[in-house]
Amino acid sequence: MLTLRPLFRHRLTRLLHSHSSDLPIVSLHEHKVAIGWNTQTLSKFHNIWLRDHCRCPSCFHPITKQRLLNTFSIPPDIKPVSARPVQDGLEVVWDGHTSLYPWSWLQTMSYDPKFPQMQQKSEKTLWGAKIHQRPPMVHYDQVMSDGGLYKWLTNIDQFGFCFVSGVPATTEATEELSKRIGFIRETQYGKFWDFTSDLAKGDTAYTTLALGAHTDNTYFTDPCGLQLFHLLSHTEGSGGATLLVDGFSVAAKLKQQHPDAYDVLSRLPVPAHAAGEASSFYRPSPGCGYPVLQHDANSGDLSTVRWNNDDRSVMSPSDPAIVDQWYNAIRLWNQFLTSADAEYWVQLTPGTAVVVDNHRVLHGRSAFTGRRRMCGAYIGVDEYRSKLAVLTDKFDRGANSETSSADVVVERSVWHPAL
Ligand SMILES: [Zn+2]
Repeated sequence: MLTLRPLFRHRLTRLLHSHSSDLPIVSLHEHKVAIGWNTQTLSKFHNIWLRDHCRCPSCFHPITKQRLLNTFSIPPDIKPVSARPVQDGLEVVWDGHTSLYPWSWLQTMSYDPKFPQMQQKSEKTLWGAKIHQRPPMVHYDQVMSDGGLYKWLTNIDQFGFCFVSGVPATTEATEELSKRIGFIRETQYGKFWDFTSDLAKGDTAYTTLALGAHTDNTYFTDPCGLQLFHLLSHTEGSGGATLLVDGFSVAAKLKQQHPDAYDVLSRLPVPAHAAGEASSFYRPSPGCGYPVLQHDANSGDLSTVRWNNDDRSVMSPSDPAIVDQWYNAIRLWNQFLTSADAEYWVQLTPGTAVVVDNHRVLHGRSAFTGRRRMCGAYIGVDEYRSKLAVLTDKFDRGANSETSSADVVVERSVWHPAL
């Protein structure tokens, strides 16, 4: 028996506009099963798609959540023997097999047509310089509980960054904080970093130079998802303000005002390298690199910003005509990135760490004098997304966060919309 989560139940009711006693109308067509949710809304599902997505225990392992059914044993022209609406969902009888698909799952998964309002999409708040009035912040003591950790991660998901106040100004506490989210990702810079401006690594991060807004690891196939940093001390000098820029917000403005430039940044792959250390030489695979702006192929939504002009390698476009378009596009992109409206400058102090979504928010700093000791870590995007997904299921987007106890384990249904 499927238990609808409150959010879905609410959405289902809103979408159906029907009396609770009415069941959807089911009809069989040549290659598809059609479900009439109400007089205006119809979803169509291919027979083979339905058969392939049976979630009964013999077709889908209830514990491992892996397919047991041999997809290639399904006849290409498979047809239901019968299909009918029952209280719990659509019941389809195949030759020698019965499948039951819950209504809410069918609505969420409907692809012909899609119901975007049924999809659990996270809220993104695009921001500019004015975010300084109320930047997202959680307290260190808070994030040591799952409810607080959920708040922290949803802030990162919504804004692309979040401060943590009250962090003891030690590497140990900061490392422990990083591990609340997931494994620390080891790179050529080490695992948990603790560094000063001594050029210990062949990268401008290890100098006192100003750094323009950029994302890290443009030279990796898989740039780190999150980066956490914490200024432990700054003595005998000044400067070194931190710069944050919302890449999604800047991209949205560029798309609106210069759609052609946006298109070039979305299409042209950009090679990059990290080559300041004799013992390593990083370049992404494939070698052509990735566009500055990458999108979700299904929704078309912007998913990743990858930009570091300093680490860019020689461009060798297949079409010479794009060279001028490229330089015009990055000139506009840079102009938007460096506008006073977009730049959020903040002076970090010991005790306040910041986490930045490296696939969305660009960071930089002003030049400084004196001795600055900074520590921090990279965390992979998959670890971060995994933790956020588990906590979202647990707290249901904050609906029960006040009452949920720390030891509640949410069993993952075979009908989870992300399976
Ligand atoms: Zn089955």
